[in-house]
Amino acid sequence: PERADITYFGAGPALLPTDVLETAAASLVNFNGTGLGLAEHSHRSQLASNIVNEAKKDLATYLDVPDDYDILFMQGGGSGEFSATVYNLVAVWVERRKQRILKDLGVEDNKQLPENVIKELQKAVDEELKIDYLVTGSWSLKASQEAARLIGPEHVNVAADAREVNGGKFGKIPEESTWKLSKNPAMVYYCDNETVDGVEFPRFPAVLAPKGVDEPIVVADMSSNILSRRVPIKNFSVIFFGAQKNLGSTGVTVVVIKKSLLPPTVANAEPSLVRKLGIPNGPIVLQYSTIAKNNSLYNTLSIFDVFIAGQVLKKSLNTFPNKVDGQQALSEKKANLIYAALDAHPESYKVVPDKSVRSRMNICFRVTHLESGIDDSEKTFLEGSVGVGLTGLKGHRSVGGIRASNYNSISLEGAEKLAKYIEEFAAKPRK
Ligand code: PLP
Repeated sequence: PERADITYFGAGPALLPTDVLETAAASLVNFNGTGLGLAEHSHRSQLASNIVNEAKKDLATYLDVPDDYDILFMQGGGSGEFSATVYNLVAVWVERRKQRILKDLGVEDNKQLPENVIKELQKAVDEELKIDYLVTGSWSLKASQEAARLIGPEHVNVAADAREVNGGKFGKIPEESTWKLSKNPAMVYYCDNETVDGVEFPRFPAVLAPKGVDEPIVVADMSSNILSRRVPIKNFSVIFFGAQKNLGSTGVTVVVIKKSLLPPTVANAEPSLVRKLGIPNGPIVLQYSTIAKNNSLYNTLSIFDVFIAGQVLKKSLNTFPNKVDGQQALSEKKANLIYAALDAHPESYKVVPDKSVRSRMNICFRVTHLESGIDDSEKTFLEGSVGVGLTGLKGHRSVGGIRASNYNSISLEGAEKLAKYIEEFAAKPRK
């Protein structure tokens, strides 16, 4: 088939706008008349810096990222960030705890920490260090497991496990009042949109809102819903996302981070103390302060992928004069169309997550049929969809069913086409 014949609903990597790909393809051979392809240009060149700076600026404009936040382009994907968030925010926690002990004991901050300070710090790490996770789906579960692997399960507090309120399966978000948050955690981590389970936080959790001096350190994985709705950036310490769903091509991961978290910590200044305390000190390429200091060009970065992300941002800025609010309205319209078609036929379809937490991005449902049973109907549904150019609809292998990923590159026409197919399939007689 031709590219134009297909609407691809895969969960990631996702569709990219064809005009962006055409520009990118030409740039791979000869970028801006330099005679050299973009993937061949040095990441140390002015040209590379310009591409990074332009993408940062456009992302900040599109999402209204405040000035006291920095934007980093990193490598290692969303999964790399499961580890990076732990390394970096535990180091910040230890540094702050160290400062408090020094103050309490009236000791000056000095490279050579006295034994009693080290002892106090060790005690604090052993007894107080916690990272809180809201486990609402497969990806936040994976992040919490990575944290347990890195610093030990005794430091990981699962403040909420969605399976406990939904018969052992993901599909709901427990009431905020039931979350068991720690007193002073290194971070509260959650995944804003669970790609596999189709669960999205409807809004920023009120209990995590900043409260004056004692701001909670909130970290969110927005890999699969960034750029699709307005985000109260000020409420977060770190937001991260892989580019490959709503931003660009696979190969870069974006971190939006509060600048106050970037000054050196024990992890930079006192690696031997970190070793003594028994907390992990991650690879330098995952260290936010190092990447920020070098404007994301500490080591070889795929400028080509940053360029594609930049082109997508330019296109979005041109399409939506009111920036991400415009995309948000469209995303909601598309999702509503698809959910309405599903809800209209309860005899044929069952949306997996609870209505209150339905994702606008990953629409997960089962095809049911009273007589023929689920499996057969889903196979027929999928075969028929491919026949009309709707592809990539198979659910994640861990949960089965159907998943329509309604990312930004799915046009309104694409969503309409899927809604129509859902309607028509329900109307067909099936054995
Ligand atoms: N977080 C979310 C929400 C995801 O959907 C994914 C991948 O689909 C990841 C993290 C992992 O990303 P990566 O494959 O880039 O490591």
